[in-house]
Amino acid sequence: MAIKTLNDYNIANKKILVRADLNVPIENGKISDISRLISATSTIKTIQSLGGITILISHFGRPDGLYKEELSLKKVVPELENLLNCPVKFSSELVGKNVIKKIDNLIGGEILLLENTRFFAEEEKNDESFSIELSKLGDIFCNDAFSSSHRAHASTVGVAKLLPNCAGQLMKKEIDTLENVLKKPQKPLTAVIGGAKISTKLNLLLNLIKKVDYLIIGGGMANTFLFAKGLQIGKSLCEKNLKETSQRIISEANENKCEIILPHDVVVSSEFVANANFSIKNVTDINSLDMILDIGPSTCDKINEIFSISKTLIWNGPMGAFELKPFDKGTINTSICASKLTKSGKLISVAGGGDTVSALKKSKAEKDFTYISLAGGAFLEWMEGKNLPGVECLL
Ligand code: AMP
Repeated sequence: MAIKTLNDYNIANKKILVRADLNVPIENGKISDISRLISATSTIKTIQSLGGITILISHFGRPDGLYKEELSLKKVVPELENLLNCPVKFSSELVGKNVIKKIDNLIGGEILLLENTRFFAEEEKNDESFSIELSKLGDIFCNDAFSSSHRAHASTVGVAKLLPNCAGQLMKKEIDTLENVLKKPQKPLTAVIGGAKISTKLNLLLNLIKKVDYLIIGGGMANTFLFAKGLQIGKSLCEKNLKETSQRIISEANENKCEIILPHDVVVSSEFVANANFSIKNVTDINSLDMILDIGPSTCDKINEIFSISKTLIWNGPMGAFELKPFDKGTINTSICASKLTKSGKLISVAGGGDTVSALKKSKAEKDFTYISLAGGAFLEWMEGKNLPGVECLL
């Protein structure tokens, strides 16, 4: 059965309870990135154009079931009004008679944002009575928060079971994109997995080796693989206890005809600070004081060559300690190559999860990628092959 969308309902004058992800980052009390708000506008505009009433709910930060003024969703109202070019009403209450009264007074096209769902401890417990209270706020439930769909909460799963439901525009786009790249990709399919540790991405690696033609491993996690191959890695970040696991991944990849590409040259330094002295070494020449902090130029060339023969690319994690110059070069060089190939129509490129988006933003490569997922944990769990409860309950 396919997931329903807004188009499957007659929504004129209906109250559409939209679970969005308005969880924007805050720095010094101010919203530092409005990407999530921009992404949320498509569903709201669609509902408006079809004459429906939008009732928006979302979590914001981690208030742990308590009211915290700094995590009130009221903060996002001016930004949303600006993006939508229309008024967005706000209710400081989330459930109960007063809110229902407010909702009953709304007409088609209007938008009401309700307070942070996580001010209620019942939200994260997927409490049934709380879900029932949420279900009284709308006629149709529309989940547009793919990024929260790996968690079975009242606002993602509980309420979905109590109302006719559908996926919002962003949710639909995210599911379609991820299905296309992992379940029915244009081949060859390549995955780039970087970042600090294997331990946090073990299930991801185990799933990808069954699906992809090339698995490029960079970042700190490549050091553990180099160590498992018997190479010296000096002072580099390494999970030595995962030596056997890494060897198992390499042999299972072989069995699945997945070629693993590890760095053959690297950027090393004796200290982990910005603008440190560095040198480029072959991975066979690492000494006891060296710390591997990025992939080397020849490895970048090899990766870019693989990109050029690939049709689809999935990317998670940086190739090096990208926050510190000059250890951002590997990530920048390879992501620019991927973005150019995408721009010229030769590659479908999808990136997401953890630090990936900020790493790609450094090279300004992300704007030419086919799709950048803002979904973080949910993106990774999908890539691990897990079923996401917030998606399953819409089926
Ligand atoms: P993750 O959240 O697992 O994607 O990891 C991202 C982090 O990995 C970033 O903070 C990078 O600085 C770090 N990282 C990437 N490569 C290395 C490396 N060679 N040594 C130490 N840290 C690294």
